[in-house]
Amino acid sequence: MSEIESNLNAVRSRIEAARGRSPWHQAVTLVAVTKFHPYAAMEEAVRCGVTDVGENRVQEMEKKFRMGTLPVRWHLQGHLQKNKVKKAVAAADLIQSGDSPELLAEIGRRASEIGKRQDVLLEFNISGEATKYGLAPEDLNAVCAAAQAIPGIAVRGLMCMAPNEAPELTRPVFRRARGMWERMKTLFPEGQISVLSMGMTNDFEVAVEEGATMVRIGTAIFGPREYK
Ligand SMILES: *Cc1c(COP(=O)(O)O)cnc(C)c1O
Repeated sequence: MSEIESNLNAVRSRIEAARGRSPWHQAVTLVAVTKFHPYAAMEEAVRCGVTDVGENRVQEMEKKFRMGTLPVRWHLQGHLQKNKVKKAVAAADLIQSGDSPELLAEIGRRASEIGKRQDVLLEFNISGEATKYGLAPEDLNAVCAAAQAIPGIAVRGLMCMAPNEAPELTRPVFRRARGMWERMKTLFPEGQISVLSMGMTNDFEVAVEEGATMVRIGTAIFGPREYK
């Protein structure tokens, strides 16, 4: 068994155990975060049943996207600059980092140009850290209304990151995110909001306990990243 395979097995059982402790009984999708890891690592993860992969940078996603025909859904989850939106829309199945109204409008414009309706998540900066991108929680209603008026996008849910702290300290952030996500479901047509993306290597069990339907995990599957 490869290291990636045994890591994946361990991550999956930890997700299952956390799901058992969650009051929501939700299904959880695992996004394997492949950024800074080679294409071969992605192939191995797919061989072991991974269906969703996440990248932070458009160039890296595009490069891997062109390298083959892996049967995966591509998630873009890093802050997206406006001049990269066209390329992002060409490759991504779900853009998780919808972190400003201007960016959402640009995504909609570029998607419409190619006859696509781009699935996006609204990224909220729930902890209010100055170093983080994201929409302000108090703008939830206004942003949802604005997003619904953009024809080229379909909002599917909410993404957030907790502060990089002891996992237990992240719980209030995830709990608030779940509350905001429940509210979002009332603001969009029935069934449209289905993704609550939260939880990374450090804190995914707490996120699942608090109702995450999608976790984004890199290090626990692929090991530490080498930033070149
Ligand atoms: C890098 C990254 C992840 C994965 O982080 P790990 O700690 O390696 O699991 C998840 N989400 C976002 C937005 C990231 O930038």
